[in-house]
Amino acid sequence: MIYIKTEEEIELIRQSSLLVGKTLGQVAEMIRPGITSLELDKRAEEFIRDNGGIPAFLGYSGFPNTLCASPNDQVVHGIPNKQHLIEGDVISIDCGVLMNGYYGDSAYTFCVGEVAPEVKRLLDVTKESLYIGIEKSVHGSRVGDIGNAIQEYCESRSYSVVRELVGHGVGRKLHEAPEVPNYGRRGTGPMLKSGMVIAIEPMINQGSRNMTFERDGWTTRTKDGKMSAHFEHTLAIRNGKADILSSFEYVEEVLNRKS
Ligand code: MG
Ligand code: MG
Repeated sequence: MIYIKTEEEIELIRQSSLLVGKTLGQVAEMIRPGITSLELDKRAEEFIRDNGGIPAFLGYSGFPNTLCASPNDQVVHGIPNKQHLIEGDVISIDCGVLMNGYYGDSAYTFCVGEVAPEVKRLLDVTKESLYIGIEKSVHGSRVGDIGNAIQEYCESRSYSVVRELVGHGVGRKLHEAPEVPNYGRRGTGPMLKSGMVIAIEPMINQGSRNMTFERDGWTTRTKDGKMSAHFEHTLAIRNGKADILSSFEYVEEVLNRKS
């Protein structure tokens, strides 16, 4: 069942998604060699609560933290820990907020200090592929058009697309229908309509697309140990077009200031 949202509901999802964006901005301020993902997680939880939200991932199917923090070869769903990040690492930070009964969901992959140029390129291509997918998110297109565009963009640049995990609808639940894969065939899958809210979240690997699940029940890693990147926006189809409800503005303002 795909829920079509009213304008009022979309605005509430925007508020939750913007708080996610601001929380990722807080993370951006803190990211540096020597910091731990647990420190980022503590700040994120405090910031979300101070701003009237509830951390959406904390306790979700038993997930223990506010952020999913997935460095280097981890794909997504990494559990924050006390390991110190080091120069050259990258780390995907995924965050969700529940506020006024509606969720927001967004993720950004950060560089820790200077990273290798080929790793920076993986991040750039992954982020760009998210926007390529968003461009396809218009009234009357199909979910397969989004996945196909992301897949073509990334594979033509010699990267691979994770298949086991996908984007999703967002609303009164964190994960609603439809599933939004980052691969697929054009003209297939559910039709997109104005009032739908979805999260698109390409998970793109430097090497092969194969992935393993760790025994902690959460962490996912590339099978070949190569790097993986992940960017996510929550967006609405509104007046026929994509309206991005989350924001990287807060993150990028900080990153530009720091560089
Ligand atoms: Mg997410
Ligand atoms: Mg998501």
